[in-house]
Amino acid sequence: VSKLLKQTRDSGPKRVLTPGPPPKLIVYETGGPNTVKFADGSSAVAACIGCEDRPCHRYSEEELAQSPLGGFPLDKAQQVCPTNVVSPDGAGGLPNIKADGCIMCGVCVARCPVGAIFIDSRKGAVVQTETNERFVEASKDQIREIEGTRAAFASVVRKGIMVQETDSVVETIGQRNERALAAITRYPDVLARNLLTTLGANAVMRRTGVTSMRMDILQQTVDGYPGIVEVEFGDEAVLDAPRDILDDVAVMVARHGWSRGKFHTAIITDLLPNRRSEYWRIVADIQRVTDVRVLTISMLSLMFAVWRQHKLTRSMCDLFYADEQTKSYLWDVVTKALGFNPHLTSGSSRLVDWVK
Ligand code: SF4
Ligand code: SF4
Repeated sequence: VSKLLKQTRDSGPKRVLTPGPPPKLIVYETGGPNTVKFADGSSAVAACIGCEDRPCHRYSEEELAQSPLGGFPLDKAQQVCPTNVVSPDGAGGLPNIKADGCIMCGVCVARCPVGAIFIDSRKGAVVQTETNERFVEASKDQIREIEGTRAAFASVVRKGIMVQETDSVVETIGQRNERALAAITRYPDVLARNLLTTLGANAVMRRTGVTSMRMDILQQTVDGYPGIVEVEFGDEAVLDAPRDILDDVAVMVARHGWSRGKFHTAIITDLLPNRRSEYWRIVADIQRVTDVRVLTISMLSLMFAVWRQHKLTRSMCDLFYADEQTKSYLWDVVTKALGFNPHLTSGSSRLVDWVK
């Protein structure tokens, strides 16, 4: 009890779930507050309970401590929001999100244990703070019930789509991505790590300034497939990434005992190089000569996967291969890897397809 009392913030209200049927399902409602469905078939709007540890804002140290490789120089940056727009203590002592800086990645949405964050596709993420018949203000002697509310949601299933992709949503994301890239240090690495983590991967970020290893991220998919990831955002940066991957492979095989053919290599990028770019040719050459398949994963593809609660498996990962022979990244890669047809105009945005 004393530990719980110590953990309690002085400021701000806490919420609890009223006694009644337990929650079974969180439904992500595209564009509006999410719904919690209960065991008896009833439902309520998901509302913020004011978690003490604010999982919408910070990862715990324990969550970031695991690495697929012992001795990897970990950067334990705990921020959840890659654009730093989630404030842990907004008005009324509950978290608040500055929606116009939100790139709609869905990471904070997925981390909220009760489903209280939703994404308004015209604005950005929003914390639903209004109480209702099931989510009520807690009195001081209900501290235990706050923990109980969290526990009641521990194994709840999640369904629905956080954001419906459209050309205009993708355009908004593209503009905000550019702003974040210009303003926030390590934004691409944090975004990539957090998206991969949300997809169930064990993904860790390298500390800057370490020269013995240069890959940005090491990861392991949910089914244990390790991989090296280079994160390259911006127009020119991605062009050198395939060569950087070869350096990384040499280090991991020669110095760390990774076996060839038993791990994957991936480049996560915001902008796909133009269809006729040298990049796609080099990727094909690398496969032909060295047998290393360099996967190209667009930032937006990872968001689509998070929006639909996918998990990153070995088979999904391997479908992110594209080279000069690929006709359309959107239809030949994204559609196959994620198993749905995006509602987008092919070639309309370099965030998800190459523009001719
Ligand atoms: S959806 Fe992503 S960018 Fe938007 S507030 Fe949440 S974590 Fe930040
Ligand atoms: S938004 Fe969700 S994760 Fe954040 S404090 Fe509220 S209930 Fe907890």
